[in-house]
Amino acid sequence: MTLSPAQYALLQRLPKAELHVHLDGSLRADTLNALAFERGVPLPCTDVGELESYMRVDDARNLEDYLARFGITLSVMQDADALERIAHELVIDSAEDGIRYVEVRYCPALNIDGGLSLDDVVLAVDRGLRRGQRETGTIARTIVCALRNLGAVHAQEMAELAVAHRANNVVAFDLAGAEAGYPARDFAGAFAQARQHDLAVTVHAGEGDGATSIREAVHLCGADRIGHGTRLGEDPSLLDYVRDRGIALEVCPTSNVQTRVANTFAEHPLRAQYHAGVRVTINTDNRLMSGVTLTEEYARCAQHLGFDLSTLASIASHAFEAAFLPQPERVSLQAAAQRETARLLAEAAADGTWTPAAEETTV
Ligand SMILES: [Zn+2]
Repeated sequence: MTLSPAQYALLQRLPKAELHVHLDGSLRADTLNALAFERGVPLPCTDVGELESYMRVDDARNLEDYLARFGITLSVMQDADALERIAHELVIDSAEDGIRYVEVRYCPALNIDGGLSLDDVVLAVDRGLRRGQRETGTIARTIVCALRNLGAVHAQEMAELAVAHRANNVVAFDLAGAEAGYPARDFAGAFAQARQHDLAVTVHAGEGDGATSIREAVHLCGADRIGHGTRLGEDPSLLDYVRDRGIALEVCPTSNVQTRVANTFAEHPLRAQYHAGVRVTINTDNRLMSGVTLTEEYARCAQHLGFDLSTLASIASHAFEAAFLPQPERVSLQAAAQRETARLLAEAAADGTWTPAAEETTV
């Protein structure tokens, strides 16, 4: 189905939570351009429109190819002012997108080439997120990532950094980067470190590799959530386990099409995962490289997967449920979102913007 402008506007107003968004993949193109100009960093193009389309990865052969674009954004993310600005703008942009809660993730080891310490990096990002939260009311938290390709010693260091900065809004530890050839079992020690200090854990898995990678993330790393989990359906027993324990999938459909783990949007397993009862959430992964907002991602799920408004609202609710916030805070945030969502659904049904009957019939 094609969405009307009124339906799109409704999705923008729908209270949403973004659980999987990378700081270094979510800069505004004009900010990337301005920061590069101020710092004398060369870019492949300096026209903002051209830069935006250059950064949107439409031609990746695989995940590794997709990740190559991050060298460009990281070239301007090596000082505290740039990090604070980028973090602040991401919260502002999220709020405009109807996002009430965002967990921003990044690997601080990639931001120290200009002389910052790892602690400086985390503090600069946190300043930006806090400022954005104060100005918009959108709650922002941090997930510290380790990168598989940088090895187990690095991962241990990132886990210790994440633990040390719990008071600075770090809520979880993640493993990202190239997946194939770097099994999660090699990083079990880092995850034990995070968990033993009561940090939540999420793991990119089943994106650049198969269901075995998800199995290791769940059973050897103790994942509370899975980043992507696109290939979970290859292991029906594991799918049951993930569903039964409410382990949420941070699904990023556009990114999965770009990295070719899904052939087309319409063939994305999100629909099957949702109907199998898995706690799925919808996320952007990288607003710049994917060229999407979260509203756009929800709209594409309506268009290509046949989800109607109430299905999208229930998936949005999953994201609040799976947020790495203390339970009392999470429950009150989710309750407020549900009240507002109920009003929106009633309004949409009353004025005919989006009638509940559309589900499944308009793919
Ligand atoms: Zn990711």
